[in-house]
Amino acid sequence: MNTTQNEITVQSNPTLESEINAARINALELKLETLSIITESLWTIIEANKLKLSDDLKAEMAKVIDARTARSSLKVSCNHCGSKQPHTEKHCSACSEVLDNPIEISPFDY
Ligand SMILES: [Zn+2]
Repeated sequence: MNTTQNEITVQSNPTLESEINAARINALELKLETLSIITESLWTIIEANKLKLSDDLKAEMAKVIDARTARSSLKVSCNHCGSKQPHTEKHCSACSEVLDNPIEISPFDY
């Protein structure tokens, strides 16, 4: 009996641990997304070969966010089954056929 009680006391709480880990993962995903947006924004600025101030970076980030939102809703029709698929997919999730994608995929879409 004592042994069982001791085991319960020293055992970690898997539910609490998994909840904490899920919260940490969510926080990290948010940070990663922000860093990714900053990187894409900087990339755009470098491509334009212009030196810009932080306000310009913020404005560029807002544009990137808008562009990403627009890109995330782009769909491609499967030539085989006709279902609509995200433009970043290589294969149809409904029938597994290779998608003929006329939309350019940004290297920042992942
Ligand atoms: Zn299909």
